[in-house]
Amino acid sequence: MLTTNLEGERPGFVTHLECSLTGERYEADRLHGLSAAGRPLLVRYDLAAAGKALSRDTLDARPTDLWRWRELLPVRRTESIVSLGEIETPLIPIPMSGGANVLVKDEGRLPTGSFKARGLVMALAMAKELGVTKIAMPTNGNAGAALAAYATRAGIETVVFCPDDTPEINVREIAMQGARVYRVNGLIDECGAIVGRGAAEGLWFDFSTLKEPYRIEGKKTMGLELAAQLGWRLPKAIFYPTGGGTGLIGMWKAFAELEALGWIGSERPKMFAVQASGCAPMVRAWEQGEEHAERWEDAHTVAAGIRVPKAVGDFLILRAVRESGGRALAVGDPAILEATADCAAQDGLLLCPEGGATLAAYRMALQHGWVKPEDEAVLFNCATGLKYPMPDTSRTLDQAALPDLATL
Ligand SMILES: *Cc1c(COP(=O)(O)O)cnc(C)c1O
Repeated sequence: MLTTNLEGERPGFVTHLECSLTGERYEADRLHGLSAAGRPLLVRYDLAAAGKALSRDTLDARPTDLWRWRELLPVRRTESIVSLGEIETPLIPIPMSGGANVLVKDEGRLPTGSFKARGLVMALAMAKELGVTKIAMPTNGNAGAALAAYATRAGIETVVFCPDDTPEINVREIAMQGARVYRVNGLIDECGAIVGRGAAEGLWFDFSTLKEPYRIEGKKTMGLELAAQLGWRLPKAIFYPTGGGTGLIGMWKAFAELEALGWIGSERPKMFAVQASGCAPMVRAWEQGEEHAERWEDAHTVAAGIRVPKAVGDFLILRAVRESGGRALAVGDPAILEATADCAAQDGLLLCPEGGATLAAYRMALQHGWVKPEDEAVLFNCATGLKYPMPDTSRTLDQAALPDLATL
């Protein structure tokens, strides 16, 4: 058995890239941003050949990290990969605050403390493979941190733009990990406009969500991993905190690829796209039956990672949610904070606010009968709760004048 999946070369099966809106084909192994139609590009594989090279048994025998899935990933050369230890994340039951059939996929265990590592380790490997030397990105925090870490390790220069109220810890970790980070008096899409402008001037490569094709492939591993962890089946429902939607789109793609390989059947989980009431463009579009979502004005929520007023992959998110029979739903900040506090106090698991939003949404779905208590549901906690402010409920003691210790 291999002790690491990063020894030696593994065959690649990418055939081409494809516009997610028009289906127009693009050559593999060349640097691409958005398609000519201004939409995300999706990576396509020769799955028949991949299925011959790889079986579920081969996979089961490999170490469980992200690189176990190499044949279903775009990186051609092992030397392109800059790894910080992308482990398989655990499924944690939360029987008290969630219920008997609720599992949290705890993505906070990944490098840089969030699942942005999955997308960026892949995008960075491809950038290195394709000769990129300078990258810029807008971020609400976690993506910038993951980019900074991997790019620094790869020797690629990075400039990161974040809204000026981005949590202090994110801004500092981005800087410590070697990126030049700017606070901008605007929201993430406005930071993205600055990145786009510099890219048009040829100053750097644009790494915005879904504007390069490979982050989806990294995020796709959440869906692959989930199927393997559950013994090659999927849960009844998935609750995903949705900003740009990379993970939801990626998982939906993963399920299709697994079915094409014959490793799972045609059943799919209901996909619940969870947003905050203060920034819910997908929910509004879903409710109005629209295929695209309009920008959400005056976006605000404690869950910074899902404060995304406008998403370039909006139609892909809405399509997946509709095809799955799920829904887009919004929860308010008070419900988010309450769910986060309950999970920590009752189940000992500290969620990030975006993760708390999925628990609040699960509770709402249960109330409305959109899921049943006996349905297995997976909630995505996409970052460690330790990165976020916590209420101070500490008490003080004077060691020179201690009270009766039985009262403590
Ligand atoms: C980025 C982020 C999200 C949203 O992820 P998308 O795939 O961009 O929708 C959710 N939670 C956390 C903690 C994040 O950092």
